[in-house]
Amino acid sequence: MIQHAIPYAAPGPGCSCTAQPCGGLLPDVECPDHGHRKNPAMAWHVADGERCLQLAGGGHHRGGAA
Ligand SMILES: [Zn+2]
Ligand SMILES: [Zn+2]
Repeated sequence: MIQHAIPYAAPGPGCSCTAQPCGGLLPDVECPDHGHRKNPAMAWHVADGERCLQLAGGGHHRGGAA
C-alpha cells in the first residue's frame, strides 16, 4: 500500500522526496529532512484515498472552485 506523508514543517531545500498533488510527499529514504535517518513525525494517508483526494481538491465534492 502506498501512503503519502504530509510533513508538519515545510520541506527544506535539501528535500529529495517526491511531491504529490495533495501536498503530501512520497518520502525518499535518503532525504535529509524526511528520510530514515531522521524519521520525523508526519501525517500519513493512503495514496489516492479519500483524504488524499480531498487535499488535492478533488474527491466527491466536485464542481467547486479551483
Ligand atoms: Zn523530504
Ligand atoms: Zn496524498
